[in-house]
Amino acid sequence: MTQVRTASASARRPVAGAGLRAEPASGSAVAESRQWAIKNVGGGLMIAAAVLVTVVTVLYDLRGEPFPMFTREVNYALSAAVAAFGFYLMRTTRRLPTWLANSLPSGAAIVICLPTSVDESPDELGPLLLTWPVTFAAAVLSARVAWTTAGVAAVVFAVLAGLGRGVDGLVLWVEASASLAVVCWMVVRVQSQAMRLREALARLARTDALTGLVNRRGFDEALAREQARRRRGGEPSALLLVDIDHFKRVNDTWGHQAGDETLRLLGGLLDTSFRATDVVGRIGGEEFAVLLADCDPDEAAERAQALCDLVRTQAGTWEHPITVSVGVAATPEPAPTPEELMASADAALYAAKAAGRDRVWIEPATVPVVE
Ligand code: GH3
Ligand code: MG
Ligand code: MG
Repeated sequence: MTQVRTASASARRPVAGAGLRAEPASGSAVAESRQWAIKNVGGGLMIAAAVLVTVVTVLYDLRGEPFPMFTREVNYALSAAVAAFGFYLMRTTRRLPTWLANSLPSGAAIVICLPTSVDESPDELGPLLLTWPVTFAAAVLSARVAWTTAGVAAVVFAVLAGLGRGVDGLVLWVEASASLAVVCWMVVRVQSQAMRLREALARLARTDALTGLVNRRGFDEALAREQARRRRGGEPSALLLVDIDHFKRVNDTWGHQAGDETLRLLGGLLDTSFRATDVVGRIGGEEFAVLLADCDPDEAAERAQALCDLVRTQAGTWEHPITVSVGVAATPEPAPTPEELMASADAALYAAKAAGRDRVWIEPATVPVVE
């Protein structure tokens, strides 16, 4: 029998999905915190380098010695300009372009090289202070930028130390280069380990421990991404909400562990029943959701019905048999928000339950659903 099923307005209950929040994708939170670190630590680095040039200049002045490089005025002007740039970085709300962010540590290394490579004492100052920009680059930017910074620092230090101190400068240069290479290697290694840990945690935060499917957080993010794609003119997609019928009875009759096992089995069945481009998640206790990419309403109704039939025949043979009700939201145009899509599917699911369970209901009522 072919019927048109609709979820009437009066049948709607307060919709759980209406409060759906598409949390900012984790990637954007990470990018934002990285920008913050680049501007604040990079700005601080510039100010520290400026203070260094000032201090060395003042010390030369106090000792009454001639400046080995530049004049007093040039040194102070350089310090003021670098410090002003550092303050600007710390205060600006603008997003720094990648090329500028990546150039910061090399710029700081050059400024640090100017006084430390020619200053007579102490010898260790250069190798010590040049670790600042390399550490900053390795911790906040990338391994490539860190090694580039170390290379730039080593080359500039070599030229300036050679100019200012002759053979002594060569010894100092070897110390500086070795120290930079070790610091760079260590921080890059620690960072790559931290990155792996962050990725593992991000995966865990989006995975349902019982079924291995994506959880509510992961599903909401996928839904938000999909709807953003649709609003940019992508193909229509559809949302299925799948709820086990009378699941409480499974727990009450066979115990909670049997309930868990049933959830795991259904999760596996759903996972293997859809395309790799679709997203299958467990978004609540015994409620699953499927996001069908590139799927028009007719196809969504067919696939929902096929799923309902598959569960009836396969899960009907399980030790603890179950059936499911499926609410379908498939709105070709205009693209709904994730909240609207979820509310629509939830209303359809409620209607499927009210109509007797073990069936599919689609909203809006444009598509015949085979019972
Ligand atoms: P309906 O057909 O109306 O959906 O009835 P139902 O019994 O499936 O729905 P109800 O909301 O009354 O009960 C859902 C049950 O799902 C209650 C809860 O104990 C059980 N449940 C939720 N999460 C889990 C879980 O992780 N493991 C197990 N075993 N049971 C769970
Ligand atoms: Mg249920
Ligand atoms: Mg439920």
